[in-house]
Amino acid sequence: MDPNTNSATDTRLAADFALTGISRLVTVAPERYGSGPLGVIPNGALAAQGGRIVWVGAEADLARAVAVEAIPPAARHDAVGRAVLPGFVDSHTHFVFAGNRAEEFQLRHAGVSYEELARQGRGILSTVRATRAAPEETLLALGRGRLESFAIHGTTTVEGKTGYGLEPESEARCLAVMRALAAVPNLPTVVPTFLGAHTLPPEYREHPGDRAAYVDLICERMLPAFAADARFCDVFCERTAFTADEARRILEQARALGYALKLHANQLGPTGGARLAAELHAVSADHLDFASDEELDMLNGAGVVGTLLPGCSFSLGIAYPSAQRLREHGVRTALATDFNPGTSYSENMQMMIALAVSAMGMTLDEAITAATRGGAAALAMEAEVGSLEPGKRCDLIVLRGDDERELAYHFGVNLVARTYLRGHLFMGGEGSTERG
Ligand SMILES: [Zn+2]
Repeated sequence: MDPNTNSATDTRLAADFALTGISRLVTVAPERYGSGPLGVIPNGALAAQGGRIVWVGAEADLARAVAVEAIPPAARHDAVGRAVLPGFVDSHTHFVFAGNRAEEFQLRHAGVSYEELARQGRGILSTVRATRAAPEETLLALGRGRLESFAIHGTTTVEGKTGYGLEPESEARCLAVMRALAAVPNLPTVVPTFLGAHTLPPEYREHPGDRAAYVDLICERMLPAFAADARFCDVFCERTAFTADEARRILEQARALGYALKLHANQLGPTGGARLAAELHAVSADHLDFASDEELDMLNGAGVVGTLLPGCSFSLGIAYPSAQRLREHGVRTALATDFNPGTSYSENMQMMIALAVSAMGMTLDEAITAATRGGAAALAMEAEVGSLEPGKRCDLIVLRGDDERELAYHFGVNLVARTYLRGHLFMGGEGSTERG
């Protein structure tokens, strides 16, 4: 007997969770389910077993396919005529940090220069100081509150980067926080990334040999120490951070140690980061505001996902990267928040969808796909999350309205009524974004 079926005589699928009453079940698996570019099933239903989807289809077919009467009543959920989508997969965040930079944001937008803000001790190094000084339990509480807020806004998988410790002990503490949060039930799935090469730490900014010494510290001490805890290694390859040569050295060492690779590339200028991402077959290259046509072709050829982060452009008040250019060059696209205290302090993927449509030239279908399946591809997790189809995790959202086309159109508010994590309703929490 197939272990997934109900009994020897009843060949219907066994399930311990069902969701019915769905006006539009947006599978984001159009090649297999539903119709249109998002694979929409009208009057849909979904069943899951052990946190994994076992069936999607029209509600009228549910009882013939699934032993639905065997599901405990408390696990039979009614979407009461609302639209259902996969949970968002936010493939680029920096959610583990202490401190708050609201004052810096206010000063920046009042015209105070970057140099003056740096002279006042603001900017990324202020977050490094606060994060280094924060005990692990403080970072844990802040990280947990943020993950709850991600879930409230419909995100069910969150990548998180280190990079505000910038020395072995503090970077290890941030990874320990992510490991602890990953083990908490009923929070979004956490995917940890080591970003020791985020910026040069203050104690490595004095002497000519300091840059090389810090890259040595990353390659010789931190990368080997963190290989078991971090799934990805990322480098901020930018003229204000690390060169393409430094990034290559770090990423080649990371790859040899079993890390998958990501790169912050070409955000502020042409740095060669996108080319490097293609050459090293990184899983994703993120930002890409200044990637050349040749680099975009290389990314496409190497199967690297291009991750666009419109929250940065919005928060900084600068030009947006062009989604149209990525489309023209065939680059697979993900959308992410880049949640961080300096340049994109938002955990709301609905906002990124709205910005992608209004300011980056994406269609709504493209934006929803980029925020779900695209994000899954940018984490090499497409077999697990990003669409609603059998075999994948039962991570989904119920909107407040009956149509996914409310997204982007009805902007600046939370359109998510419920979030389900591995088949369990997320019950809220404080949703804290309080000052650290
Ligand atoms: Zn980032």
